[in-house]
Amino acid sequence: MYKIKAFLDNLIQTDWIGFNKIDNGLKQSEVYHQILNDFKKLVHIEAKNENFNFSELYALLKSYKNDISELPFIGKFHILVNPRLLTGQLTKIVEEIEFHLAKNNGKEAVCDCEIKYKYNQTPDIVHLIKVGFSCDGYYNYTIYECLKCSFKWSTYISDDSTGNTVFEKWNEKEFPDNNNYCNE
Ligand SMILES: [Zn+2]
Repeated sequence: MYKIKAFLDNLIQTDWIGFNKIDNGLKQSEVYHQILNDFKKLVHIEAKNENFNFSELYALLKSYKNDISELPFIGKFHILVNPRLLTGQLTKIVEEIEFHLAKNNGKEAVCDCEIKYKYNQTPDIVHLIKVGFSCDGYYNYTIYECLKCSFKWSTYISDDSTGNTVFEKWNEKEFPDNNNYCNE
């Protein structure tokens, strides 16, 4: 874990003022992406160590979150290149790696919906069929069932700047019985 800690310390020490001065937004995004990529490579290698512990890595990232979010830069494409998003981007990389390792360990499973849900990955949409709608007075949810494993997903469109589709495990107990006031 010390190598990842060193990486994060290095990230804090990076010449972000200089980075901020890069005029070309594409060039800037490239440099930023390279940093994310270096992190990905490093975690890939480190995760192969027998005593590697993902929970420790998440905790480590969390402990750096404040420092990272205050780094003195803002990208020309600030929807992607943004210190306030950086910890989340690094965490997502770790989740993807953890998911792939878990998937390889559970190859005999019928389908990976359950594992995907557990590691915060989106399901393979081609295997999903729509089985209903719901709402909680805030979001409208579309309910899907996986044809391979019967896992039920609910989806909604996030109202942040990304407008991404968010997948969650469908749990009807959390929703009211009467869906009459839903928009859909
Ligand atoms: Zn499935």
